[in-house]
Amino acid sequence: MNVNRLYRLTGGVCHHDWGDRGAPGRVPLIAQLLGRHADGRPFAELWMGALPPLAAGVPDWPGAPTLDVLIQQHPQALLGPALTASGVATLPFLLKILSCSQPLSIQAHPDRVHAAELHAHDPANYPDANHKPEIAVALTPFVALAGFRTAAAVQADLERIPALAPFFAGLTGGPEWLREAYGRVFTASAGAVAAAGRDTAVHLAASVQRTGHEDLFRRCVALFPDDRGALSIFFLNLLNLQPGEAIYLPPNEPHAYVEGTVVECMAASDNVVRAGLTRKFVDAKVLLRLLTYRSGLPLRLHGTLTAPGVRRYRVPTPEFDLEFRDMHGPAVVPAESCLSLLLILEGDVHLATPEWEWIAPRGSILLWPAAVPFVRVTPRSATARWVRAIAGSGTLAGSAGSLP
Ligand SMILES: [Zn+2]
Repeated sequence: MNVNRLYRLTGGVCHHDWGDRGAPGRVPLIAQLLGRHADGRPFAELWMGALPPLAAGVPDWPGAPTLDVLIQQHPQALLGPALTASGVATLPFLLKILSCSQPLSIQAHPDRVHAAELHAHDPANYPDANHKPEIAVALTPFVALAGFRTAAAVQADLERIPALAPFFAGLTGGPEWLREAYGRVFTASAGAVAAAGRDTAVHLAASVQRTGHEDLFRRCVALFPDDRGALSIFFLNLLNLQPGEAIYLPPNEPHAYVEGTVVECMAASDNVVRAGLTRKFVDAKVLLRLLTYRSGLPLRLHGTLTAPGVRRYRVPTPEFDLEFRDMHGPAVVPAESCLSLLLILEGDVHLATPEWEWIAPRGSILLWPAAVPFVRVTPRSATARWVRAIAGSGTLAGSAGSLP
């Protein structure tokens, strides 16, 4: 076993319907990173982690194991003593590139208590017992719905659309209005939802000045006719991120990514509670039960420059940090106390440890074992950039799904 070097990883690709198919003259970013041509299929997600069913492969390790198996065999050398001492037995995060050209489902991710309960009762739909706080860092302009708006902002929008008045009539108002009104979207009869959706679409088609929420509503109704998720758009903050801007989504907060490409990092979990704008399994009752109904904008992060060209995104969950590094000359990058994963986003980079060297082309995904004390990096192109997900040494036992 040689853990004094980095190891190439092969990521897992998801071709969900909502993924980026590219355009004439533009190959989807995920296909570019994989060195593939556009083939008409949607390239939605690139998974880089140890979470089944898309655990990364480690082709240069003898026997070419998957990363989850390899970490089980060598936890100390790969994860590092700080993590193993706190009881963590697997990679605590999942790194992704996510590229969407149409909206994803309205969803939330359960906290650990809800996740354990959901997984125990319905393991087919909730595959693990972990929470899934996530950060999304925009690589392109990115549009997302995230977190509840204030009741006053929602009410002002609903008042602009007379077709919605009967649907939301008779609510008690006051501090519970948001919970009651959002609940009605998912508990009213299918006929009432379809009628409200259709009448609203007719009203908005004739409207000259539409808001961003209204335009998105029309787009979603066209994609998912009669879906409850479309009405729920009016309740959520509509955000436009520029490249480098990020949002952090804690558990139990509603969100839906709408368009663009992000680097996403999350606690190692695949628990998604969906309520609409999808053809997948919908569990609106559970979603309504776990939401906090807190109003306000989600946490927006811009990262902190920790050295020239190095931007660090620290998140309020212990599993991971993200670092973006623009490389303009040779540098020695020291290890942190725990394992890292690297993705070369741009350029080719010569990488060297005391016992190993390699020119990593764009799209390379690499495992940096905790035992490797530093990596010498030398860009081989005018621009070179990586994103590095660093396991948090503050990770609590159990947060990586390793609860006994
Ligand atoms: Zn999500």
